[in-house]
Amino acid sequence: MEDVLQRPVRYVKGVGEKRAELFEKLGVKTVGDLLTLYPRHYEDWSQIVPIASAPMNEPCCVRATALSKPAEHRIRKGLTLYKFTVSDGLSGMQVTIFNNKYAAAAVKAGAEYLFFGTVEHGYSRYQMSSPSIAPVGSGNRIRPIYPQTAGLTSTAIEKAVAAALTLVGDAIPDRLPVAIRVKHRLMSRLEAVKTIHFPPTNAQLKEARRRLVFEELLVLQLGLLRLKGHVRRGTPVKIETDHTAEFCSLLPFSLTGAQTRAIADCVRDMQSGVPMNRLVQGDVGSGKTAVAAGVAYSLIQNGWQAAMMAPTEILARQHYQSLSALLKNTSVRVGLLLGSQPAKEKREVTALLERGEIGLVVGTHALLSDTVQFHNLGLVITDEQHRFGVSQRARLSAKGRDPHRLVMSATPIPRTLALMIYGDLDVSVLDELPPGRQPVATYAVGSDKRERVYGYIEKFLNSGKQAYIVCPLIEESDDTPEGLLSAQEYYERLQQTRLGRFRIGLLHGKMKGADKDAVMTAFQAHEIDLLVSTTVIEVGVDVPNASVMLIENAERFGLAQLHQLRGRVGRGKDAAACILISDGASDETRKRLQVMCQTNDGFRIAEEDLALRGPGDFFGNRQHGLPALSIADLKGDMALLSAAQNEAMALYRADPSLETPENRGLCGLISSLFASVGEDGLN
Ligand code: ADP
Ligand code: MG
Repeated sequence: MEDVLQRPVRYVKGVGEKRAELFEKLGVKTVGDLLTLYPRHYEDWSQIVPIASAPMNEPCCVRATALSKPAEHRIRKGLTLYKFTVSDGLSGMQVTIFNNKYAAAAVKAGAEYLFFGTVEHGYSRYQMSSPSIAPVGSGNRIRPIYPQTAGLTSTAIEKAVAAALTLVGDAIPDRLPVAIRVKHRLMSRLEAVKTIHFPPTNAQLKEARRRLVFEELLVLQLGLLRLKGHVRRGTPVKIETDHTAEFCSLLPFSLTGAQTRAIADCVRDMQSGVPMNRLVQGDVGSGKTAVAAGVAYSLIQNGWQAAMMAPTEILARQHYQSLSALLKNTSVRVGLLLGSQPAKEKREVTALLERGEIGLVVGTHALLSDTVQFHNLGLVITDEQHRFGVSQRARLSAKGRDPHRLVMSATPIPRTLALMIYGDLDVSVLDELPPGRQPVATYAVGSDKRERVYGYIEKFLNSGKQAYIVCPLIEESDDTPEGLLSAQEYYERLQQTRLGRFRIGLLHGKMKGADKDAVMTAFQAHEIDLLVSTTVIEVGVDVPNASVMLIENAERFGLAQLHQLRGRVGRGKDAAACILISDGASDETRKRLQVMCQTNDGFRIAEEDLALRGPGDFFGNRQHGLPALSIADLKGDMALLSAAQNEAMALYRADPSLETPENRGLCGLISSLFASVGEDGLN
């Protein structure tokens, strides 16, 4: 009987060929689709409100008698108003209908109707514009309002849904495992679907929604786990000895407590016989590189090789330099592999890797090439993992036999999001900065203050410090909003200002890899005082002498991104500053930039960003990589998300392929939710 849901929507009474075509525009092909076309919102016609006590600026339902027939007023061509007065026995109200001759003609003097709309407390009397009007007998309930398309009104959809529910009867299967339904007190799917379309009360509507949202989020998380799947089976990469103490004795500084804990977490994972899958989250400057080095050190001393993949050549080079420095007094040999290297160099590195003579290799996507073979790869480290696609990570891991995985992220994100972005993984948090760091003083100003800001930067430069200026654009295009300068143009104009006498460099994403590196190297060597740049400097770049940053058009960046950018300064012991220039006048912009001025705590910033903008931003640029949800709202349903995720994790760990009879039904739900998402869509 389940098939009835699969039948084309034209099987529904009242839906013919033509309607079926219109439904298709709304993504509805089958009867089942129709039943999951959930109302966008509701009109509560169940509570009748006296005109005089109607809420302000909020629609409500009034029951009143028309005192006259609507009178027609032609205002001009294309605009005809119909006005009449109604009374609920206590107060009168003027009703205006716009351009709708039929609605006006249906109103009879002396008859009683329900009017749904916003009561305005107008000049000396109450009034309501363009209400929905219904005869008293029919309307007294909570009415669903559907997403509409030309030719298909909400009322028509409502009728079709009602007919579909009759057609389907009780043949709406419930695929949620009973244990979960009982534990979370969720109504059956059948009841939830009926109620979401035709809710008897607001309380029942809420429960129906809770049930459907929970299911959708559970299925979403299960699907993400499956896509990012790492079933926790055994691995041959099992290390015997912990070499952390030895590693520490080689460092020029002592590790922070948080670094020590993170390394210990990883070593324990690598001793367990099950592949490690761990995210080390730490704010910019918290010392993730030293953690990676410590973890790799123990592994390598146990006879395995480690690989670190970075998203850009600049970063790979920099990691290579810092890791080589951290490991320079050890027997560990560090190698570098980049696409832009001369073929001869690449061949040498590959040969050393294959023979096992390089213990730790740092590289970009070049590591994925078929010509790169390892002697015995035991650990894959990725920096900023969400910039890599699922299949890229899998390809690197496939060069070893179930190697451990360590992910480093400087984007501090709440656990709910980490689970969605990374799947099933353990998290270590570096919640402590190395001693001596000062918060970066942050100011938000309008562009009228730019001259003064330049003067401020000049002081830093005069004292031998370096500076960044970040612009959002690389080059001008036709749709460049007015007043927005590209990095190139900005760089040129800067020569004419008081800062023009300093050595200014330019860095942007369209430059060739080698040119970028040359600029970065010059900046590191302090051959450049002031670097004008796009966001290519966002991740990881480490120049401790750079102490001031100016961000132009700051409103164009997300908070998390601003925080990343700001993390490029204040890496040394000296006072550092960040100035956000923005003329964005909206309240949201002001609030966001204020958050930046108030705190340096990346986790707090991430929470604020999430609250202000929803989770889309955390999924990067690619359409944010999630399947379209039919009812859940990631922003509004965060609490349910967390509960659903916990269930998903428990299910996944107990039954990763969802094979038991209880769980099997969930597979179909996953396939349909993820039908529209490509293999690498989830980055
Ligand atoms: P992250 O990658 O987390 O942003 P890095 O690993 O680049 O941070 O470290 C930032 C800077 O702090 C580097 O210059 C590094 O050498 C230094 N550093 C790391 N750990 C410590 C520590 N425990 N004590 C002092 N300095 C440290
Ligand atoms: Mg780093």
